[in-house]
Amino acid sequence: MSRPPTVPWTPTSAAARQRQADALAVIVATVTAVAPQLDAEQVRAALDRVARTRQEAPRLAEHLRAHPDALVSGAPIGPVILGRLVRELQAAGAAGLVVPRCPGCGRAAELRHPRKQPDGDGTRVEGERMCGSCFARSQVGRCSRCGRHTQLVGGIRRGEPYCAACRGTRRATCTVCGRHRPVADTQAGGPRCSTCRRRDPRPGSPAAAAASAARSTSAPPTAPPAA
Ligand SMILES: [Zn+2]
Ligand SMILES: [Zn+2]
Ligand SMILES: [Zn+2]
Repeated sequence: MSRPPTVPWTPTSAAARQRQADALAVIVATVTAVAPQLDAEQVRAALDRVARTRQEAPRLAEHLRAHPDALVSGAPIGPVILGRLVRELQAAGAAGLVVPRCPGCGRAAELRHPRKQPDGDGTRVEGERMCGSCFARSQVGRCSRCGRHTQLVGGIRRGEPYCAACRGTRRATCTVCGRHRPVADTQAGGPRCSTCRRRDPRPGSPAAAAASAARSTSAPPTAPPAA
Protein backbone atom coordinates (compact mmCIF):
# COMPACT_ATOMS: atom_id res chain seq x y z
CA MET A 1 0.00 0.00 0.00
CA SER A 2 1.60 3.24 -1.07
CA ARG A 3 1.04 6.45 0.78
CA PRO A 4 1.65 10.03 -0.34
CA PRO A 5 4.94 11.69 0.56
CA THR A 6 4.95 13.47 3.89
CA VAL A 7 5.74 16.76 2.22
CA PRO A 8 4.85 17.88 -1.31
CA TRP A 9 8.35 17.14 -2.33
CA THR A 10 10.50 14.02 -2.65
CA PRO A 11 13.93 14.38 -1.06
CA THR A 12 16.61 13.58 -3.59
CA SER A 13 19.80 13.78 -1.57
CA ALA A 14 20.63 11.50 1.31
CA ALA A 15 21.09 14.51 3.56
CA ALA A 16 17.66 15.85 2.66
CA ARG A 17 16.07 12.46 3.26
CA GLN A 18 17.78 12.25 6.62
CA ARG A 19 16.67 15.76 7.58
CA GLN A 20 13.10 14.87 6.66
CA ALA A 21 13.23 11.58 8.56
CA ASP A 22 14.63 13.32 11.64
CA ALA A 23 11.89 15.92 11.50
CA LEU A 24 9.21 13.25 11.17
CA ALA A 25 10.61 11.32 14.11
CA VAL A 26 10.50 14.40 16.34
CA ILE A 27 6.99 15.34 15.27
CA VAL A 28 5.60 11.82 15.67
CA ALA A 29 7.25 11.39 19.08
CA THR A 30 6.01 14.75 20.35
CA VAL A 31 2.47 14.23 19.12
CA THR A 32 2.06 10.67 20.34
CA ALA A 33 3.46 11.65 23.75
CA VAL A 34 0.57 14.08 24.32
CA ALA A 35 -2.04 12.30 22.18
CA PRO A 36 -1.43 8.57 22.74
CA GLN A 37 -4.71 7.70 21.06
CA LEU A 38 -3.02 8.39 17.70
CA ASP A 39 -0.43 6.13 16.13
CA ALA A 40 2.59 7.17 14.08
CA GLU A 41 0.85 6.51 10.77
CA GLN A 42 -2.06 8.79 11.68
CA VAL A 43 0.37 11.55 12.63
CA ARG A 44 2.27 11.19 9.36
CA ALA A 45 -0.99 11.23 7.41
CA ALA A 46 -2.11 14.41 9.20
CA LEU A 47 1.23 16.01 8.42
CA ASP A 48 0.83 15.02 4.77
CA ARG A 49 -2.45 16.92 4.63
CA VAL A 50 -1.15 20.14 6.15
CA ALA A 51 2.47 20.45 4.92
CA ARG A 52 2.72 22.76 1.94
CA THR A 53 6.43 23.32 1.51
CA ARG A 54 9.54 21.26 2.08
CA GLN A 55 10.65 23.49 4.94
CA GLU A 56 7.55 23.13 7.07
CA ALA A 57 8.20 19.76 8.70
CA PRO A 58 11.82 20.55 9.66
CA ARG A 59 10.75 23.97 10.98
CA LEU A 60 7.97 22.42 13.03
CA ALA A 61 10.37 19.79 14.40
CA GLU A 62 12.81 22.49 15.38
CA HIS A 63 10.05 24.38 17.18
CA LEU A 64 8.85 21.24 18.97
CA ARG A 65 12.38 20.50 20.15
CA ALA A 66 12.63 23.96 21.69
CA HIS A 67 9.01 24.01 22.91
CA PRO A 68 7.91 20.46 23.79
CA ASP A 69 4.61 21.88 25.13
CA ALA A 70 3.75 23.63 21.87
CA LEU A 71 0.89 21.23 21.11
CA VAL A 72 -0.89 21.91 24.40
CA SER A 73 0.16 25.44 25.40
CA GLY A 74 -1.90 27.38 22.85
CA ALA A 75 0.99 29.86 22.68
CA PRO A 76 0.99 32.11 19.58
CA ILE A 77 4.51 31.17 18.63
CA GLY A 78 6.10 28.82 16.13
CA PRO A 79 5.54 28.18 12.43
CA VAL A 80 2.08 28.54 10.90
CA ILE A 81 1.90 24.80 10.25
CA LEU A 82 1.65 24.20 14.00
CA GLY A 83 -1.94 25.42 14.17
CA ARG A 84 -2.89 23.59 10.99
CA LEU A 85 -1.44 20.34 12.31
CA VAL A 86 -3.17 20.63 15.69
CA ARG A 87 -6.52 21.15 13.94
CA GLU A 88 -5.87 18.20 11.68
CA LEU A 89 -4.90 16.00 14.63
CA GLN A 90 -8.04 17.03 16.51
CA ALA A 91 -10.09 16.07 13.47
CA ALA A 92 -8.30 12.72 13.50
CA GLY A 93 -9.42 12.15 17.08
CA ALA A 94 -6.64 13.61 19.22
CA ALA A 95 -7.83 14.92 22.58
CA GLY A 96 -6.03 17.36 24.83
CA LEU A 97 -4.32 19.38 22.11
CA VAL A 98 -4.70 23.15 22.09
CA VAL A 99 -4.73 25.25 18.93
CA PRO A 100 -2.50 28.34 19.21
CA ARG A 101 -4.64 31.35 20.07
CA CYS A 102 -4.32 34.81 18.67
CA PRO A 103 -2.81 37.12 21.34
CA GLY A 104 -4.98 39.96 20.05
CA CYS A 105 -8.48 38.45 20.05
CA GLY A 106 -8.00 35.07 21.68
CA ARG A 107 -9.51 33.22 18.75
CA ALA A 108 -8.08 29.92 17.52
CA ALA A 109 -7.65 31.43 14.06
CA GLU A 110 -4.78 30.75 11.73
CA LEU A 111 -1.91 32.96 12.89
CA ARG A 112 -0.35 33.95 9.59
CA HIS A 113 1.04 37.31 10.59
CA PRO A 114 3.87 38.53 12.80
CA ARG A 115 2.42 40.18 15.87
CA LYS A 116 2.66 43.95 15.87
CA GLN A 117 1.98 46.59 18.44
CA PRO A 118 -1.55 47.96 17.96
CA ASP A 119 -0.53 51.52 17.15
CA GLY A 120 0.43 51.28 13.51
CA ASP A 121 4.09 52.01 14.09
CA GLY A 122 5.10 48.60 12.74
CA THR A 123 6.88 47.41 15.88
CA ARG A 124 6.94 43.65 16.10
CA VAL A 125 6.45 41.60 19.21
CA GLU A 126 9.37 39.27 18.73
CA GLY A 127 8.50 35.65 18.03
CA GLU A 128 4.72 36.01 18.34
CA ARG A 129 2.11 35.68 15.63
CA MET A 130 -1.41 37.01 15.23
CA CYS A 131 -4.53 36.51 13.12
CA GLY A 132 -5.40 38.47 9.98
CA SER A 133 -8.08 40.59 11.68
CA CYS A 134 -5.81 41.68 14.51
CA PHE A 135 -2.96 42.28 12.10
CA ALA A 136 -5.23 44.57 10.08
CA ARG A 137 -6.28 46.43 13.24
CA SER A 138 -2.63 46.84 14.23
CA GLN A 139 -2.12 48.67 10.96
CA VAL A 140 -4.36 51.59 11.88
CA GLY A 141 -2.69 54.98 12.05
CA ARG A 142 -2.24 58.28 10.29
CA CYS A 143 -1.84 58.12 6.52
CA SER A 144 1.23 60.14 5.54
CA ARG A 145 -0.40 61.10 2.24
CA CYS A 146 -3.96 62.18 3.06
CA GLY A 147 -3.53 62.64 6.80
CA ARG A 148 -6.58 60.59 7.78
CA HIS A 149 -6.45 58.27 10.80
CA THR A 150 -7.40 55.03 9.12
CA GLN A 151 -6.40 51.53 8.07
CA LEU A 152 -2.88 51.54 6.68
CA VAL A 153 -2.04 49.18 3.85
CA GLY A 154 1.65 49.84 3.22
CA GLY A 155 4.74 51.97 3.68
CA ILE A 156 4.78 51.43 7.44
CA ARG A 157 8.33 50.14 7.72
CA ARG A 158 9.61 53.01 5.57
CA GLY A 159 7.97 55.45 7.94
CA GLU A 160 5.63 56.67 5.16
CA PRO A 161 2.42 54.74 5.82
CA TYR A 162 -0.46 55.11 3.39
CA CYS A 163 -4.10 54.08 3.31
CA ALA A 164 -5.96 52.13 0.63
CA ALA A 165 -7.25 55.32 -0.99
CA CYS A 166 -3.70 56.61 -1.34
CA ARG A 167 -2.17 53.37 -2.56
CA GLY A 168 -0.47 53.58 -5.93
CA THR A 169 -0.12 57.27 -6.34
CA ARG A 170 1.11 59.55 -3.67
CA ARG A 171 -1.11 62.62 -3.75
CA ALA A 172 -0.77 65.81 -1.79
CA THR A 173 -1.52 69.49 -1.96
CA CYS A 174 1.13 71.00 -4.22
CA THR A 175 2.96 73.70 -2.28
CA VAL A 176 3.31 75.80 -5.45
CA CYS A 177 -0.09 75.70 -7.17
CA GLY A 178 -2.16 74.52 -4.23
CA ARG A 179 -3.95 71.78 -6.16
CA HIS A 180 -4.32 68.26 -4.75
CA ARG A 181 -2.33 66.28 -7.26
CA PRO A 182 0.10 63.35 -7.60
CA VAL A 183 3.42 64.32 -6.08
CA ALA A 184 6.29 64.70 -8.56
CA ASP A 185 8.94 65.59 -6.00
CA THR A 186 9.35 67.02 -2.54
CA GLN A 187 11.46 70.08 -1.91
CA ALA A 188 12.26 71.93 1.29
CA GLY A 189 8.95 73.78 0.95
CA GLY A 190 6.97 70.54 0.54
CA PRO A 191 5.57 68.40 -2.27
CA ARG A 192 5.14 69.71 -5.82
CA CYS A 193 3.08 68.44 -8.72
CA SER A 194 4.59 67.55 -12.10
CA THR A 195 3.29 70.73 -13.76
CA CYS A 196 4.99 72.97 -11.23
CA ARG A 197 8.19 70.99 -11.38
CA ARG A 198 8.30 71.36 -15.16
CA ARG A 199 7.67 75.06 -14.83
CA ASP A 200 10.43 75.50 -12.29
CA PRO A 201 12.87 72.63 -11.87
CA ARG A 202 14.85 74.50 -9.20
CA PRO A 203 13.65 74.23 -5.61
CA GLY A 204 13.00 77.36 -3.60
CA SER A 205 13.21 79.69 -6.59
CA PRO A 206 11.68 83.19 -6.49
CA ALA A 207 8.80 81.97 -8.66
CA ALA A 208 7.95 79.19 -6.27
CA ALA A 209 8.32 81.46 -3.25
CA ALA A 210 6.11 84.12 -4.82
CA ALA A 211 3.41 81.63 -5.70
CA SER A 212 3.55 80.13 -2.25
CA ALA A 213 3.38 83.56 -0.57
CA ALA A 214 0.51 84.64 -2.81
CA ARG A 215 -1.47 81.52 -1.94
CA SER A 216 -0.83 81.80 1.77
CA THR A 217 -2.32 85.31 1.85
CA SER A 218 -5.25 84.17 -0.33
CA ALA A 219 -4.42 86.89 -2.82
CA PRO A 220 -4.17 86.17 -6.52
CA PRO A 221 -0.65 86.15 -7.93
CA THR A 222 0.32 89.61 -9.13
CA ALA A 223 2.64 88.31 -11.77
CA PRO A 224 2.86 85.14 -13.81
CA PRO A 225 5.66 82.79 -12.79
CA ALA A 226 8.99 83.74 -14.32
CA ALA A 227 9.89 81.66 -17.34
ZN1 LIG B 1 -6.76 38.03 16.45
ZN1 LIG C 1 -4.48 58.28 2.68
ZN1 LIG D 1 1.56 72.36 -8.61
